[in-house]
Amino acid sequence: MSDKNKAGADVPLLDLKAQFAAVEKEVRAAIDRIVESQQFILGPEVKALEDELAAYAGAAHGIGVSSGTDALLASLMVLGIGPEDEVVTTPYSFFASAGGIARLGARPVFVDIEPNTYNIDANLIETAVTPRTKAILPVHLFGQCADMTAILEIAVKHRLPVIEDAAQAIGAEHQYRRAGGMGIMGCFSFFPSKNLGAFGDGGMVVTSDDGLAEKLQILRVQGAKPKYHHSMIGGNFRLDAIQAAILRAKLGHLDEWTAKRQENARLYDEKFAAADLAPELLTTPTQRPGRHIFNQYVVRTRERNTLMAHLNDVGVGCAIYYPAPLHLQACFANLGYREGQFPNAETAAREILAIPIYPELTEAQIDTVVDRIVRFLNTR
Ligand SMILES: *Cc1c(COP(=O)(O)O)cnc(C)c1O
Repeated sequence: MSDKNKAGADVPLLDLKAQFAAVEKEVRAAIDRIVESQQFILGPEVKALEDELAAYAGAAHGIGVSSGTDALLASLMVLGIGPEDEVVTTPYSFFASAGGIARLGARPVFVDIEPNTYNIDANLIETAVTPRTKAILPVHLFGQCADMTAILEIAVKHRLPVIEDAAQAIGAEHQYRRAGGMGIMGCFSFFPSKNLGAFGDGGMVVTSDDGLAEKLQILRVQGAKPKYHHSMIGGNFRLDAIQAAILRAKLGHLDEWTAKRQENARLYDEKFAAADLAPELLTTPTQRPGRHIFNQYVVRTRERNTLMAHLNDVGVGCAIYYPAPLHLQACFANLGYREGQFPNAETAAREILAIPIYPELTEAQIDTVVDRIVRFLNTR
């Protein structure tokens, strides 16, 4: 046992070294395999990961790309989205969810989120659909699926494609269907802090549409097929073989890691409930039916800023995802959104805090985190 497993010691927000220790042999063997082959970009290792991940998400094809950001961008590009077009999405996510839309000259059209799950409020989507709407882009935030039943119903009614931002939701389920496999395309990220993390950047688009899969494969190599003959304007969106090999080694552990995250979430829920704090002092995550994979465990408190400062002082890792909603970002000022327009997203940005949830966390560490939070909030 290392020091940090003793109650009273620091608890980091994420401990990637603990995870590496558990898979070091397999991962080093995977890296060695690529070093021996000297085949570094795309190739059989990437293809094998694509097949495994597509199957994991319940889709027919996987297209390995350079990042989650590029997975989103490429998905929007193959749908031909550009100037004059609109895409309906959430104002409460990582920047890339809306960034790809705007980079193509299209307009991200935001609707507010649900106050308790922080996912897009499906009831508001239809009010935002116009003749210019070309897609709906929900995000499965923190590891829990958005209400895909309602979203897909609206999509069918208006004949709109749905691109799922499943960067935080690998293996999450809504009515027994997996994140990324429900829309026309699903986007994953292998950024190291995601539940399946690479040793650098990486991403994947999954789809069951054969035509879109082929276009994505062409788009990621500059739009060329055959090489040097360009039917479309693509980019360098390729995935490295070394990342694919590492990810394949880790994919076999993903369900066991997810189960540990779920168990940690259950322990937090139980221990915070026992502390019986007023809801404005502490609210734990709302879980809908389905499989929540807890990329983050996020609590809500009106004392967020003071609590965060306190946890920093006493050695408990925590972070704000996200301190400013997308409709109020300076780069989107031209879209004309105002403060007050999406109150649920704005309140979430002021009140939420992510605390440690990674699989290797021990119960003693969870007790430390709960104890430090509860003691502090009881003084407020
Ligand atoms: C991480 C993330 C992305 C971007 O993924 P990168 O691999 O970092 O480019 C996009 N959307 C969401 C919701 C994310 O959490």
